[in-house]
Amino acid sequence: MSHHRHLSKETQMVHPPKESLPEGNEPLVSPIYQSVKFKPSSMGQVRDILSKRGNGYLYSRISNPTVRELEVLLANLQGRDDALATSSGVAALTAVAMTFLSAGDRVVVFTESYKPTRFLLGGILSRFGVQVMRISRDDYSKFEELCRSDHPPKLVFLESPTNPALRLHDLEKIVSSAKKSGSLTVLDNTFAGFTHHGKIDIDLFVHSLTKQANGHSDAMGGVIIAKKDLIEKIFPVAMTLGGCLDPNSAWLTLRGMKTYALRTKESSKNALEMAQWLQGQPWAKNVRYPALKDHPDHDIWKKQMPGDGGAVVTFDLNCDESRFDQFFDQLKLFTLTPSLGCVESLAAPCLLFFADDLPADDARKAGITSTTVRLAIGIESVSDLKQDLEQAANAARA
Ligand code: PLP
Repeated sequence: MSHHRHLSKETQMVHPPKESLPEGNEPLVSPIYQSVKFKPSSMGQVRDILSKRGNGYLYSRISNPTVRELEVLLANLQGRDDALATSSGVAALTAVAMTFLSAGDRVVVFTESYKPTRFLLGGILSRFGVQVMRISRDDYSKFEELCRSDHPPKLVFLESPTNPALRLHDLEKIVSSAKKSGSLTVLDNTFAGFTHHGKIDIDLFVHSLTKQANGHSDAMGGVIIAKKDLIEKIFPVAMTLGGCLDPNSAWLTLRGMKTYALRTKESSKNALEMAQWLQGQPWAKNVRYPALKDHPDHDIWKKQMPGDGGAVVTFDLNCDESRFDQFFDQLKLFTLTPSLGCVESLAAPCLLFFADDLPADDARKAGITSTTVRLAIGIESVSDLKQDLEQAANAARA
């Protein structure tokens, strides 16, 4: 870029030389487009960019090429034609709710769902006149009744497997009732991942990318995946809410996605071994993992997520409630933190982290007691993980 050499040194510092690659000479790994602004070639191009999403780049809250690479990859994996990435999974859920819900609308949220989803709807949108109908996973008749009523829900928020009790929804059944009543279904597919549920006629998929997609506990993100017309409705709302994914996190997530298949296979294999082993331990009861034959939704699992039980195992620690904290205090390999889907194994006290907003009876019905533990299994050696759990359980029961 010698043409800048005639300018003053101050100006050259602000406009350094650019290195452009010869045609066809591409980097194997895409660069991080760490630029908030993009230079249009003309006013004509500006108009073109502003007229339609995907026509080019101007400002990174609107779109960014690194983020776009990730969006296209994830839309393809989930089997839909478009995606919109956000700064976190919660930002994705918020953008969906804010796009489709208005005062007077009804929304269904199942009791067995992520606590911030319940709060987003029940604690925030309800203040703006949205009617929140919280229904238990075991009360489909109430859901069907609502769908058949003269005031059916506008949106139905779902998770499968649910967090943390790992119940599965019969998604086809729910989608069929929702379609008949004109309700849109929103599946938080974070636990199941991108390779499951794409063939079911779900309208909107939401994922936290902070989990399996990134996989290494070093970036947050979220994504909404759907048909183009729905994404186009969400786009102006998401852009204005401001929760855009930054290119650095998008790049880390793209890197994580390269090993997604290997990591999810390994953690799922480890989780199955862990669940089977836990079933034989005197200090563990009520072990929940969908691939176990005695899981209440095992048949749905075989149909919806064959061969993959996921990375999460939940059980009740057989100890005095007053000694429950000891278990977590003694863990050496497992990290006490509320997340999942990373290479490291994590452990979480369920009532405190995921259900302290629920009436005690509803929490119990949702499978969460005062000694329920959620394990998110990583890719370490399972025998080391077993030893860690055993010594912590022994300490809690001493
Ligand atoms: N959905 C589910 C099922 C989750 O478990 C989480 C996080 O734990 C989220 C959404 C929110 O994701 P984030 O932390 O990226 O906002």
